[in-house]
Amino acid sequence: MKSRFAPSPTGYLHIGGARTALFAWAWAKKQQGKFVLRIEDTDLERSTQESVDAILQGMDWLGLDYDEGPFYQTDRFDRYKQVIQQLLDEKKAYYCECSKERLQTLRENLIKQGKKAKYDGCCQNKNLNTGVVRFNNPDDGLVVFNDAVKGQISINNKELDDLIIARSDGTPTYNLTVVVDDHDMQIDCVIRGDDHINNTPKQINLYQALGWHSPEFAHLPMILGSDGTRLSKRHGAVSVMAYRDSGFLPEALLNYLARLGWSHGDQEIFSMDEIVKLFELKDINKAPASFNQDKLLWLNQETIKNSSIENLLNNLAWHLQNQAITITDTPNIGAVLQHLQNRCKTLVDMAGEVKIFYQDFNTFDEELARKHFKDKAPLKHLFAKLEALNTWQACSIKQAVKEVCFELNIGFGKVGQPFRLALSGNGNAGSIDIVAELVGKDKALSRLKMAINL
Ligand code: GLU
Repeated sequence: MKSRFAPSPTGYLHIGGARTALFAWAWAKKQQGKFVLRIEDTDLERSTQESVDAILQGMDWLGLDYDEGPFYQTDRFDRYKQVIQQLLDEKKAYYCECSKERLQTLRENLIKQGKKAKYDGCCQNKNLNTGVVRFNNPDDGLVVFNDAVKGQISINNKELDDLIIARSDGTPTYNLTVVVDDHDMQIDCVIRGDDHINNTPKQINLYQALGWHSPEFAHLPMILGSDGTRLSKRHGAVSVMAYRDSGFLPEALLNYLARLGWSHGDQEIFSMDEIVKLFELKDINKAPASFNQDKLLWLNQETIKNSSIENLLNNLAWHLQNQAITITDTPNIGAVLQHLQNRCKTLVDMAGEVKIFYQDFNTFDEELARKHFKDKAPLKHLFAKLEALNTWQACSIKQAVKEVCFELNIGFGKVGQPFRLALSGNGNAGSIDIVAELVGKDKALSRLKMAINL
């Protein structure tokens, strides 16, 4: 069994495209079938290599591996020409030379009469051999198909235009190429956004004209932004790679995308294996799904918490490099990440916090310093206690902090906050006893000294 993802390279891989890719991928994996990537680049004016690269990069980052492809439609022009010629020879298509002006007037007149704006077949019997090529759509009857998401859909052929399958320069159009490819690539199920649902009856007619069996169709509901309109740039990041940059784990984004329009009971958190195991087209919702950044962030945090250290490190590497942070042998990065995975919502936050364990600093956040370093007595007292410690462990450090509080008769915050700021420079750090242990005695004491001498 085969499915495919067929993006047009006219921009980056966006959230909607990634969800389509995920559903098609999960469907194929579930059937132990094949997943095909096809780049639909026949629109030479709008397709760019940059977009191709961005799509491949997005698929790679998400881990949506394909068994076949990437195929490029621009490599298949000869095949499309052959099919167009076949349709012409069989009188199932014809050349049309109608001018833009004629078509425009025709359109306006039909609309004025309250009729559907469609081509009137003027060139159908002229036996022309230049111009655009139009498919001779049947005039009567119904096109009926069972969409795996939307249910039965039926369209009267009278509603359908004689669609253009080749431009006047001979290049084929989307509805033709998609049919030829899905047939040649033996696609069993076409999973795509419901913005294509109006194309499907036209494509089914083409399959029929060519004597080919049409695949199953599943049209996915739209993704809406928080204000109920179609998700777009206005709603913030829609590019998949922007989520990498903001510190999301690919499996968190995929988990979130899976839940956008698909559900399995009330379950929110899924591993990729579970998505594959549980995925069924029948569980895709008919109604549009709303994109919710807060929920995605929550899922990211949960995924970080449950992730293996190895996976965290693999995904963090890019952020560490980006923030110019070099990891050394001490402290052990595994121990640092184990501490951080319970408190960081994103990998960007995590990289920022990793920094304090490996990188020295020589300034403190000014505003916080004014607040927490006003009274130096707790820090001085703490310094003496910590310096005297024989074992540098979270529990002994915690005990030292407690003793300072007790001996100076002050609350925990009066010691903890200055200590946290001294250790981190910016106050962004978790449990100070653990942070101090990981930072190590020498560094912890020298940072305390720097704070005291400020
Ligand atoms: N290339 C089309 C697009 O990016 C998708 C076509 C399809 O899935 O049939 O919208």
